[in-house]
This record gives sequence, structure tokens and C-alpha cells, in this order.
Amino acid sequence: MKIYFLFFFLTSCLMKPPLKEVKSNKGSWTSGIFFSGHEHITRFAIIKANALIKSKHGLPGFYSEVSEWDSGWRTDNPLIEGNFKTDFPDRRIYDFYGVKKRDLRSWHSEPSFQNIHSMRNYSDGYTQTLFESCQSIKGSIIKATLKAFSFFRKGQKEEGLFWIGHASHIIQDSFSRAHALRRSPSFKEIEDICTYGKKFESICFHKNYEDIIHGDRIWKVDLNCNLNPLEKSYSCLKPEAQAAVLATSGYLFIVGELVKEKKFSELEVKRELKKVLEGEESPNGAYFEC
Ligand SMILES: [Zn+2]
Repeated sequence: MKIYFLFFFLTSCLMKPPLKEVKSNKGSWTSGIFFSGHEHITRFAIIKANALIKSKHGLPGFYSEVSEWDSGWRTDNPLIEGNFKTDFPDRRIYDFYGVKKRDLRSWHSEPSFQNIHSMRNYSDGYTQTLFESCQSIKGSIIKATLKAFSFFRKGQKEEGLFWIGHASHIIQDSFSRAHALRRSPSFKEIEDICTYGKKFESICFHKNYEDIIHGDRIWKVDLNCNLNPLEKSYSCLKPEAQAAVLATSGYLFIVGELVKEKKFSELEVKRELKKVLEGEESPNGAYFEC
């Protein structure tokens, strides 16, 4: 009897299917090692921007589409690369910002580089106000875009797209609740911009651990979306991540339009960018009205 029971016990153990591994964190804005949220947000934004460019200018496929398996560490899409290299910089990014101490820890914790991730810059005795921070984040988006146009002007589309990817990263980070707080349901108005590395009174703070509901993740936390690691549809994006898609698509649309119409001068680029960042009349615009 005992032996029979042991045999039964062992076979039932062996026949048991292995426990399915449930990963709760399958894409946050900044973790970015394998499949970060930026790739998915950019993937949806490209589809929307291409549709806008096609309907207005009859020009199909301005941006190369991104597969749902595309990832910043092994991509040949310059838009994804520039986006990814914002968190994991290469020589181009370090040179652009005049960085001497080139290690990841310093890059992410440098108080005067927080705007690059849509957070608040500070120094020893001073913290940016919400208004200053929003203005200088917008300034960083414009600066990166002008860098892109210095390449577009010379017919170097791929090189230019790297910097458009970098600017897209700044835009997208501003929708992560670990970086900035936007007012729902439109997420157009920025209510607070957080600090990283040092906490300040009555300013939100980017924690170093993941907070499932409020934090950095892009996917909804529900049975369908969270427990199925293969579910990567637009409807599974958290509402603020969907807003990040819209904002990126509006920005990419303007860039595509400027390139299509060969408007390469700094003045024209700045004027059109301000329109999409600040104004409602541009499709999917007005996410940086500050
Ligand atoms: Zn970032």
C-alpha cells in the first residue's frame, strides 16, 4: 500500500505541468534592458504618424515600422536606437551634452540632466519651479530636434532620425507617473514634475523601486493585460501610455511634414514645433502647454 502510494505520488508530481512563470513587469518606461516601454509606445506612434502623413500628404510609410519584438539594444531602426540611447548613452549623446564622466550611474543621477528624462533639474541650493522645468524640458525636445534637422538638411535621414528618437524619449518620459504627473483623462496638463536622487518637500519623487499602480510601467494591471506576457495591444496600454503614443505621433507627424516640405531652417522648425507642443490646432498637439 505504502509503495503504491509513493508511486502514485511521484507520477502525479512528474505529470504536473510546470508552474507558469508570471512576470508582472513586462515593460516599464525606463528599465529598457530587453523590452522597455519606449519601444512599444514608439511602435504605436509610428503607425499613427504614418497614417497622418499619408492622409495629409499622400506619402506612405515615412517612418519604418517597428515590430513588437524590436528592442533598443539590438535594433537597426535609428528612431528606436536614439530613443534607447537616451537611457544607455553612446558617444553621440555624451558628446551632445558635453559629458566628461561617462558612466551610467552619473548619467542618470546628474542633477542638471534630469530634464532629459522629463524630470526636474536641481542644484545644491536651487530647484527648478514647475514652470521652469516644463519650459526647459520643452527646450530639450526642441534642441534635439534641431540637431536632427542639421542632418536632414544634408539629406542624412537615418542620422537625423536618431535625434528624433532621442527627442521622442524625452516626450514619452513625461507621461510616466514616476517622472511627472499629468491630469487625466486627457493628460495634457502637467501638474507636477518629479525629482530623482534627492527628495524635495511637496514635489513628487521618482522612487528606485517599481510601484505597480503609480509607477513606471506602461501596461494595465488587469487579468487580461498583466498576466499574459504576450498581450501587447494598444488597448492594454495604461491611459497615460496611450496619451504618450498620441503625443509622440503628433510630434513625429510634424517632423515628417517639415522634412516632406523641405522646411529645414531653424526658424521654421522651431515655429512648427512650438505649434505641436503648445497648440491644439496641430493633430495630437498641446502636451507641453506651459
Ligand atoms: Zn529616460
